[in-house]
Amino acid sequence: SILYRVDGWGAPYFTVNSSGNISVLPYGADTLPHQEIDLLKVVKKASDPKASGGLGLQLPLIVRFSDVLKNRLESLQSAFSFAVQSQAYEAHYQGVYPVKCNQDRFVVEDIVKFGSLFRFGLEAGSKPELLMAMSCLCKGSPEALLVCNGFKDTEYISLALVARKLHLNTVIVLEQEEELDIVINVSRQLCVRPVIGLRSKLRIKHSGHFGSTSGEKGKFGLTTTQILRVVKKLEHHGMLDCLQLLHFHIGSQIPSTALLADGVREASQIYCELIRLGACMKVIDIGGGLGIDYDGSKSQDSEISVGYSIEDYAYAVVRAIKSVCDRNGVKHPVICSESGRAIVSHHSVLVFQAVSASSYASSEMPSFGLQYLLEQLTEDALADYRNLSAAAIRHEYDTCLVYAEQLKQRCVQQFKEGSLGMEHLAAVDGLCEMMSKAIGVSDNVRSYHVNLSVFTSIPDFWGIGQLFPIIPIHRLDERPASRGILSDLTCDSDGKIDKFIGGESSLPLHEFEGSGSVNGNGGKYYLGMFLGGAYEEALGGVHNLFGGPSVIQVMQRDGPHSFAVTSAIPGPSCGDVLRMMQHEPEVMFEILKHRAEEFADNGEANGSMSIASGLARSFNNMPYLVGSASCSLTAAN
Ligand code: PLP
Repeated sequence: SILYRVDGWGAPYFTVNSSGNISVLPYGADTLPHQEIDLLKVVKKASDPKASGGLGLQLPLIVRFSDVLKNRLESLQSAFSFAVQSQAYEAHYQGVYPVKCNQDRFVVEDIVKFGSLFRFGLEAGSKPELLMAMSCLCKGSPEALLVCNGFKDTEYISLALVARKLHLNTVIVLEQEEELDIVINVSRQLCVRPVIGLRSKLRIKHSGHFGSTSGEKGKFGLTTTQILRVVKKLEHHGMLDCLQLLHFHIGSQIPSTALLADGVREASQIYCELIRLGACMKVIDIGGGLGIDYDGSKSQDSEISVGYSIEDYAYAVVRAIKSVCDRNGVKHPVICSESGRAIVSHHSVLVFQAVSASSYASSEMPSFGLQYLLEQLTEDALADYRNLSAAAIRHEYDTCLVYAEQLKQRCVQQFKEGSLGMEHLAAVDGLCEMMSKAIGVSDNVRSYHVNLSVFTSIPDFWGIGQLFPIIPIHRLDERPASRGILSDLTCDSDGKIDKFIGGESSLPLHEFEGSGSVNGNGGKYYLGMFLGGAYEEALGGVHNLFGGPSVIQVMQRDGPHSFAVTSAIPGPSCGDVLRMMQHEPEVMFEILKHRAEEFADNGEANGSMSIASGLARSFNNMPYLVGSASCSLTAAN
């Protein structure tokens, strides 16, 4: 666990148990020992058809822990409640969840269900997200906010106004000045009094990767001049009382509470000014940005960590708003936040299998002997070989590398010209590798092939180089004997993970075990990607037509296994992903079936039937490697 820093990024939800497996603590620090869930047991139940109650789902697999989601929501709520009470703040906190972070039905429904006790609402940024939020919030608290962000057209604004007619506490947040005219016109047509918010650009700037939307030139929000024009227009139409919410978003992963407080103070002053100008302001919506400690460093200098806790965050927000409002003699507003990453990141774990690993480069000498090989080389190549040997004897590592590279290049040239055979070329590779090993500069990092698509399941690694904790979920009581990078199934050189938290360029990994190994995992080697519950699922594409993983939802239960699988959904099949690209799997199947019948030899009706049933299976299976194919690869070749 020290090797993989589990205690840093994993606390308080993940730890390593006495069997060397990852243990999930569904209620964080409040989890009792018998409530801990062994992740390997969950994976076996989901994937092994032979395990008792096994579901036979294909990997990769997302495991959602609903209790963790609940605990995150409750932690956020109680951090704000404490900050409000301890600072005698005279209004409450009621957050919204930005559904874009993870629109999965079970995630959104869980959040509405768990959050209804404390008026937790939803934030939408597009029309389908709004439709989803509207229907989900019908089961939520009547006071829960439905915040409508993003660029809007007439249809979006009409939908939001319909939501108000349906008694959902909907706020249309103006992202652009032009949206106001539509709101005024459509609300008249529909005879609804809108509740309007506006998103303000702030002058402060969060300089990290996730801060590019902030600052005066940021993509979203209204400038000071635009805000003043909006106020004037609303006043002109007798609608200034409709303006009730001020929104801003500093950026995701806000690194420090100092930057946060600076932004909140600036926005609070705008809030107070809007009251001075006659708006009926009630809510300040501080956007998202509550950060996650992906690398466990608790450092504001790391882009993937933050130097504060949820409690520090809430305290800083309440303090900043209170001080500005008190100074202006303004009633304290309801505080809303749109934390996404901080709510959903921890609850889901992506589990996948490493199925094989590249061998260390071969260092066998050829059966035909060194002398014979040398006789085939040109004078120049031979000179390189002699220089290489001499440098190796003198232990001049750098010189060795130079001559080895030169020798290889000359031999490749000879091969291309036809004066060197394939066996000789392989022998030269082996020779160079042997020399490197002898002087200790050999690269011992192996490629572990994983049954996964980086583009589908970890798109932020590919797109913006974001790092997530990735570690084996078992055998953590064994010292790993290798180091490796992870290479995915796609035919794409970017489809690999070669950077890991802590700045490492390879990961300590275990050797594969034989399928009959004593630990009962059938030689399987499972890895988990943690803290990826936000953004990764919706951002992922279908490169190489690898679709999403299977998904299960798990809840803590008292009993022998300490968990129950409450929903299980297989990932998209080959047919499903083909359909996404407008192919028609049913028609494709018929074409291939006819072809099989056409080419079946006389009396071979069974043959064409078995081809057809094999084809049907392939259309129905997920695109990833399946059991036996991957197992047969497990011997490190
Ligand atoms: N609200 C808005 C307007 C956003 O743009 C974002 C994401 O960048 C969020 C909320 C969620 O932010 P986070 O996931 O950092 O909490």
